[in-house]
Amino acid sequence: MAQIIDGKKISTQIKDEVKEQVAALKQKGIDVTLAVIQIGKDPASTVYVGNKKKACEYVGIRSLAYELPEETTEEKLLELIRELNDRTDVNGILVQLPLPEHIDEQAVIHAISPLKDVDAFHPVNVGKIMIGDYDFLPCTPAGIMELIASTGVDISGKQCVVIGRSNIVGKPMAMLLLQKNGTVTICHSRTKNLKELAASADILVVAIGKPKFVTADMVKEGAIVIDVGINRMEDGKLCGDVDFDSVEPKAGYITPVPGGVGPMTIAMLMKNTLHAAKLQHNLA
Ligand code: NDP
Repeated sequence: MAQIIDGKKISTQIKDEVKEQVAALKQKGIDVTLAVIQIGKDPASTVYVGNKKKACEYVGIRSLAYELPEETTEEKLLELIRELNDRTDVNGILVQLPLPEHIDEQAVIHAISPLKDVDAFHPVNVGKIMIGDYDFLPCTPAGIMELIASTGVDISGKQCVVIGRSNIVGKPMAMLLLQKNGTVTICHSRTKNLKELAASADILVVAIGKPKFVTADMVKEGAIVIDVGINRMEDGKLCGDVDFDSVEPKAGYITPVPGGVGPMTIAMLMKNTLHAAKLQHNLA
């Protein structure tokens, strides 16, 4: 039987620490502020943005919501970002992805000031992560590192397999595991021997977006299994990329969906926004 890694509990601890520090900054006259931009009304994005606003309220971060219509032009969005970059009372800027097709995602990511880039998607921040000298870490991989740390298992020398190579999860995840001296393999849709590779992992991180893709035969006895996937099933329930029922008896540690990685992503966003405010006030 695996130990369940309780992302809800760990994320609350992180948010409580952030809350204290946000209050301390308020004492100094700094009102930590996050601008959240959503274009259109994609239902999943609306849920994520709602959760981010709720977390801001919890930790005492002021959130500015920009809910713009689907037909907003790229130029208008870039103009708003430039305005927010220039505002000294705004510490973090987050543009909820995905964007409508007529807007170039990369142009938007490039437009956000790296100092306010609390998602850590800007190439400057991505580059800093590569060399291990960073201000911000992308929220999901950073949250996963906290979850792994909570097990007490040392990553150094462990076989780490990351399934998925997206810019927001898989690639930075691999980099962070490497920085902690894991021996890292990245798998993707063209990987030939995925099953064997996954089954060799002491630490297995799955971020592909395919419900219950990883089954017990793909997991090593006692492994740490981190399920990043969020898939909405026909019955409306959420399900991960790991077949929890079959994998849980075999794994050493496992994250549930919901209540695993998801809440950590948001807690790390709060942490990044606090850090952005400190950086901008030379308090970091
Ligand atoms: P992407 O769609 O950007 O990337 C998916 C990756 O999975 C790709 O690299 C793809 O390979 C790989 N892949 C797809 N099918 C297979 C397969 N059959 N075998 C091996 N690899 C495969 O997804 P994201 O990284 O953005 O998200 C992944 C999942 O995590 C989603 O369910 C998403 O909702 C969830 N998510 C959850 C978050 C949280 O806070 N819990 C945050 C962000 C995402 P290739 O590159 O070859 O196409």
